Amino acid sequence: MANHLPPKGELLYEGKGKQVFRTADPETLVLAFKDTATAFDGRKRSELADKGRINNAINDHLMAYLGERGIPVHHLGRVGVAESAVRNLEMLPVEAVVRNVVAGSLARRLGRAEGEPLSRPIFELYYKSDELGDPLVNEFHALAFGWAAEDELRRMTELAFQVNDVLHPLFAAGGLTLVDYKLEFGRFRGELYLGDELTPDGCRLWESATGEKLDKDRFRRDLGDVLEGYRAIGRRLGVDL
Ligand code: UDP
Repeated sequence: MANHLPPKGELLYEGKGKQVFRTADPETLVLAFKDTATAFDGRKRSELADKGRINNAINDHLMAYLGERGIPVHHLGRVGVAESAVRNLEMLPVEAVVRNVVAGSLARRLGRAEGEPLSRPIFELYYKSDELGDPLVNEFHALAFGWAAEDELRRMTELAFQVNDVLHPLFAAGGLTLVDYKLEFGRFRGELYLGDELTPDGCRLWESATGEKLDKDRFRRDLGDVLEGYRAIGRRLGVDL
């Protein structure tokens, strides 16, 4: 744990799954992972005791792994059981989804069977808006509305695929298929960094041998003990839970 990092100060923002605190250093924030699980824009909601700790541990493992492989990540280190220190990014209002296998909204939107492998990964952009339900957009929308600059969109795409190149084999080695995942990016000292979190709340992970869903779809679709799935992911990654 990174004990030298500043302790958390005032609450800056509270989202559905995390709280964000200021620290004495304006360039550093503390993320606190909540035990709350939400889906369908917050219409489905449950308290799952221990989820915050498990997600913090998985996020720390994945972010540190990416950072060691040259991806600029906002993550600095764990500072509590369910808390991590991060760089204070200026977040872009668009999020990226990378897909390796058809699932979720892609299956619904294009009438494809869930589980269909993709011949090459797909990159998608969504505009972050709770009122609008995070609509699918493209680079032209992002440029026209000033959500990101052209070089930032290029960098976002490049980093999103680099994350895939690192995480897909990492999960595969643990017997897991990285079906899809959501990434958020922000600006820090003139560069784009990977922000937010990498946890089973924002990724689809299936047991490769059986196709069993181990991620948040267990919660969305009532597929069984949610945290049992998250713990299985942690175990397969070698995360000390
Ligand atoms: N995702 C997310 N937050 C969102 C939307 C999607 O973390 O607001 C993740 C989701 O967990 C999945 C991937 O992004 O791993 C693709 O989600 P999809 O577009 O299929 O939407 P869903 O059907 O999950 O709502």
